[in-house]
Order: sequence, then C-alpha cells, then structure tokens
Amino acid sequence: MREGASFDVLVVGSGAAGLASAVAADRAGARVALATKTTLQACNSAKAQGGIQAAFGDDDSPEIHAEDVMRSSHDTANPALVGVLTSEAPSAIHWLEEAGVEFTRSNGGYRLARCGGATRHRLLQVGDRTGHAITKALRERFESGSGTELPHHRLLEIRRSDTGWVASFDTKEGPAEVGAGAVVLAAGGRCFAEAETRGELSTNHPNATGEATRIATAAGAEARDLDALQYHPNGGAWPATMQGYSIPETTRAYGAVLRNSDGEEFTDSLGPRDTVSEAIVAEVERGKGVETPDGRPAVWLDTTRISAADAEISLPYMLRRYRAAGIDPLAERIYTYPVLHYQNGGLVIDEHAETTLEGVFACGEIAGGTHGRNRMMGNSLLECVVFGRRAGKAAAERSRT
Ligand SMILES: Cc1cc2nc3c(=O)[nH]c(=O)nc-3n(C[C@H](O)[C@H](O)[C@H](O)COP(=O)(O)OP(=O)(O)OC[C@H]3O[C@@H](n4cnc5c(N)ncnc54)[C@H](O)[C@@H]3O)c2cc1C
Repeated sequence: MREGASFDVLVVGSGAAGLASAVAADRAGARVALATKTTLQACNSAKAQGGIQAAFGDDDSPEIHAEDVMRSSHDTANPALVGVLTSEAPSAIHWLEEAGVEFTRSNGGYRLARCGGATRHRLLQVGDRTGHAITKALRERFESGSGTELPHHRLLEIRRSDTGWVASFDTKEGPAEVGAGAVVLAAGGRCFAEAETRGELSTNHPNATGEATRIATAAGAEARDLDALQYHPNGGAWPATMQGYSIPETTRAYGAVLRNSDGEEFTDSLGPRDTVSEAIVAEVERGKGVETPDGRPAVWLDTTRISAADAEISLPYMLRRYRAAGIDPLAERIYTYPVLHYQNGGLVIDEHAETTLEGVFACGEIAGGTHGRNRMMGNSLLECVVFGRRAGKAAAERSRT
C-alpha cells in the first residue's frame, strides 16, 4: 500500500459537483486533492444537454421555483434543502459566468425555456451542450488554482483517522491511501450499473456505478430514497445508434408533443418526469404504442412542431446527431421510450452538504433529499453547483477545526 500525501480537503469525483466543490475549497484557502475514477473529463455531468434552472423571469421567484420542486417531488423533498437550492440558483449562475460559462441569450436577457413540471420559463441553456460547457469551465478554473489532480483513483474505502479521514484507492500503480481533514463525496449515481443489471438501456456514463454510496453507508452514513430511480421520459428508441440517448426535454419545451399510434396526444408533454414516463409506458401497455424497426416498444415524439429557429439555437447537437443517423427531426416524428436516467435518492445531507458522518460531505447525484423521490429536469446541474460550492467551503472550514 502506497502512503499518499495528506490534504485539507479530498474531493472524490470530477463531475459538476466535484469540480464545483474543489474550486470552492481551493478558493477558501484549503489544500485540495481531486480524485476521480478515470479521467477528469469522464462523468455524467458533461453529457447533460437540456439546461439548468434558476428563477430569472419577471414572473418568477425562488419561492415559486421551490413550490415547483416540492410539487414535482410529491412533497417528498426536504424543504430546507429546496430553499437553499432555489434561493442560491441565481448566484450560482453568476458564479458559473465568472468561471467562463456563456449562457444562451435572447432579447437582452437569458433565453429561458419552460421544462417539465415547471410553472414558469426558468431553464437556462448553453445551446444543448450545457453540461459540457459547465464542466469545461469549472475544470479550467480548478486547473488554474493550486489543487492536486488524482486521476485513475477509484475509491475503495473511507475510514476515520486522528486528523480526519483516510481514503483507500485502487490506482494504475496499485493501492494507495490519501489522508484529509475532510472528504467531499461527489461520485454521482448508479444508473449505468443498475441498467446493466436490469438488462435495460441507460443514458448514463459507464462510471456511474454507485460504489461510493455503498462505501459511505458502510462507514456509517445514512441514505434515503435509494430505491427511487428516475426514467428519462424521452430515451432515443430508434435508430440503433440513438438508443439510450437522452433526447433533450427542451424538445418538448420548444413544442414537441408525445403521440400514440393513432397520432393522438395522450398526456401533458410538460408534466413532471415520472408522470410523463408512466403515461408512455401505460399507452404502450394498452396497445397504443408503436414498434421500432428492431421490435422495441415506443411512442412518437412529434418534433416536427419545433420551429427551425428554436432548434438551431437550442437543439443543434441533437439535430446533428439525428441527421447524421439519417433522420431529420424537423421533418419527421422520432421514436422514443423511457430510459433509466437518474438516482433520485442518496446520502442524507444538511444545508452545508455534510452527511451524517462528521467531516464527510456529499453533493450532486450521490446526495439525497433535494429532489425527494422525483427530480425536475435542470435541477441536478443546479444542485451540483449550489451544494458543490457549499460542500467545498464547509469542508475547507471543517479541515481547519
Ligand atoms: C445524458 C444526460 C443528460 C442530462 N441532462 C441534464 C440536464 O439537462 N440538466 C440537469 O440538471 N441534469 C441533467 N442530467 C443529470 C445531471 O447531469 C447529473 O445528475 C449530474 O451532472 C451529476 O453530477 P455529479 O457531479 O453528481 O456526478 P457525475 O457527473 O456523474 O460525476 C461523478 C464522478 O465521480 C467519479 N466516480 C464514480 N465512482 C467513483 C469512485 N469509486 N472513485 C472515484 N471516482 C468515482 C466519476 O468518474 C465521475 O467523475 C443529465 C444526465 C445525463 C446522463
């Protein structure tokens, strides 16, 4: 076993949550290490397309945003965490802008879309590569600071030490240990592994395997709602190269609707995720679905209703991918079916992102409570930034005590 260096703050995971917390801890003056399973770029966050919510509209407010979250969660979310999420959303956006993220603008303000479950237009976007833009900017910010990168470090265990915590890793050079005054777990969810077990498709990156949650609970951390997994209503179902692709929900925000085999709209296309996914599955079960050329169940997503102007500004990546596969979504409907997407639950945290283990923080998809048992789109990237910043700052403070 190699004895690694010791740091004030050890962050595990290099998605949006890990990067936000590493940047915040570094800015708070801590000696930070950012450890991650493979490369720094490998994560779910970079795949996020649709956008990030924040109440900027004239008719909107953090309170209305919070009401939408609570209603979409069927009142299962933790109101204290929701209050933090929505009230800090605008400042999180400005923080990202300072880091270099350029959100799409129109008419002198942000281009805001209305997403499923929302009562207002609140979704900011960077075209349809929002997660890529956020992770790239945060990674560059971390790399310009004084933190240490530990790629190819797969977390195996955490345990208490006299000065805080020790983490064991599997690395390319063999086992290694890293000590830290405080640890931030930002290792994401488990939907890639879960989909493999179920024999289903998933939108997730292969690194989304969930072992860090098990490591934390084995060390004594509490978790909640771990059974509540979310299906993205609009997985790509055909062509084969698009299977498991998450068709951005902004397609529906910009006018696309769900249709059955008779061409009828069978649900509110802007309903909460679980409601829309359940409606699609039910429609197929009652024989009103369509079948893909390779025999998979599906319904139609009528993307022909999206205007070319909206598509070019807000869906260019999705258009490119479908057109490369020989289908033009602006000219023909596309096949869609729900696909395993997100772990709603996770480690129990307080408002400073501390788990029930003193000195161990959690943020992003690995944490539970902010979305309850049903997350709204656009609130995960937001959670990563809001609670990532909080976790990094609080971990830096904790490491000094
Ligand atoms: C295709 C897709 C589209 C999405 N679109 C949106 C959207 O438009 N808006 C939105 O808000 N949300 C969206 N989401 C959800 C959102 O992107 C994720 O939930 C969020 O980015 C998770 O961030 P994270 O930092 O918690 O985890 P991740 O980004 O998954 O990062 C986890 C990190 O931990 C590392 N890791 C895992 N296990 C270990 C280990 N044992 N040891 C060390 N490191 C480990 C991984 O390699 C990775 O670097 C989307 C998700 C997907 C998959």
